Amino acid sequence: MSDLRVRFAPSPTGYLHIGGARTALFNYLLARKEQGTFILRIEDTDVERSTQESVDAILQAMDWLGLSYDEGPFYQSDRYDLYKNKVRELLDKGLAYRCYCTQQELDAKREAALQNGGKPRYDGTCRERTDQPDAPYVVRFKTPHEGSTAFNDRIKGTITVENAELDDLIIQRTDGNPTYNFVVVIDDAEMQINLVIRGDDHVNNTVRQIPMFQALGYQVPEFAHVPMILGADKKRLSKRHGATSVMVYKELGFLPEAMVNYLVRLGWSYGDEEIFSMADLIEKFSLDNVGRSAGVFNPDKLLWLNEHYIKTGEPARLAGLLADILEGQGVAVSGGPDMIAVVKTLQERAKTLVEMADGARFYFEAPADYDEAAAAKFLNAEHKGVLGLTIKHLSSLSSFALEDIENAFKSVMEESGLKFGKIGPTVRVALTGGTVSPSIYDVVAVLGKDVVVSRLQRALDAIG
Ligand code: GLU
Repeated sequence: MSDLRVRFAPSPTGYLHIGGARTALFNYLLARKEQGTFILRIEDTDVERSTQESVDAILQAMDWLGLSYDEGPFYQSDRYDLYKNKVRELLDKGLAYRCYCTQQELDAKREAALQNGGKPRYDGTCRERTDQPDAPYVVRFKTPHEGSTAFNDRIKGTITVENAELDDLIIQRTDGNPTYNFVVVIDDAEMQINLVIRGDDHVNNTVRQIPMFQALGYQVPEFAHVPMILGADKKRLSKRHGATSVMVYKELGFLPEAMVNYLVRLGWSYGDEEIFSMADLIEKFSLDNVGRSAGVFNPDKLLWLNEHYIKTGEPARLAGLLADILEGQGVAVSGGPDMIAVVKTLQERAKTLVEMADGARFYFEAPADYDEAAAAKFLNAEHKGVLGLTIKHLSSLSSFALEDIENAFKSVMEESGLKFGKIGPTVRVALTGGTVSPSIYDVVAVLGKDVVVSRLQRALDAIG
């Protein structure tokens, strides 16, 4: 057990998106690799936008990806007393002050600053004020004016800002509620986080937060800011580039191991290797191999990985997932063919579980009608003989093993004088309704004798 303590701190204002999931994954991997502690903190101080539904969605997505945490979830909304005490502490120490400037005054100052070509920063009017009028106020943190704030980012290297660039941040609003940048500091410190891994959209917050750690007498953690994820057009990843919600990919038939493998490569590399199980990642992951440039979202690569994990997946596990999808689609799977056998016939052919489900339907439901073009070509009067012979030879089998089935088809070929190429398509349309399916022998074996014979008979009857 090392003393590494990392956290994932999502704001529950929506689903878990690709970028958030990658941040969570990096934290998780490092914690597991170093045998540290991974903490989940729900940052729900934005009461207007935070919902329980989003919390649930985030927890569900983490669970799906296999990102287990060791402590939490902690909710910031449960910790207001702590935050208020810390505001008081800073006020008492003279490290924060009450600011009575009204919104109109602030707007006017802002306007004036912009017109003079300056930055619209708070000008510090109330910084040295000592009276306490009976009027609404916010509390501001007294950011040091002199010197600079610097940190050595584990990914980006040294980042420095002159403190003169920073204005006095509001840490408590007029309604008495603490603000985001302030509570993050208190939580990271009180939860003894010693490495903060988060998106690099937070770099500006980090330089705001460091002086507050110092003012409160806390140890400043280390930071690792992970570059953004962009779409193929190099713009920030958004819905225009495809689904950004992790769980939408579950719905689309992706496996969590494909998603994890995909997410980690959005920013991290290990030579030119592409395929990593979670166990590989826990062994190999390190911040040293996280790049400084943005990751580019590539849906084709995700699909390629998914195909790989479907091909190599444990059939029994895929069978359970496939059954869930089919049942969700209203297909009655119980009483149908063995799901593991079904999976084995489709693993080489499907890129997603949804595709696999589409390809598996015929195993559980007789074709409602035949594909028109296929029937016109392969189910007409000239095929009655072949169907009849196939029924005869298959129904006489006492064992329905693959080689018995092959022998039965050999007999059909001999007796009809036709090559398999003339028989297979007709049988395929009769059994599956269309021209695309796994190998006919496999289909026949998995469907079983009764179903096969009844579907062939039905096709024969349909020809009339
Ligand atoms: N709650 C922030 C977010 O969802 C993350 C804050 C942090 O990691 O420090 O963007």
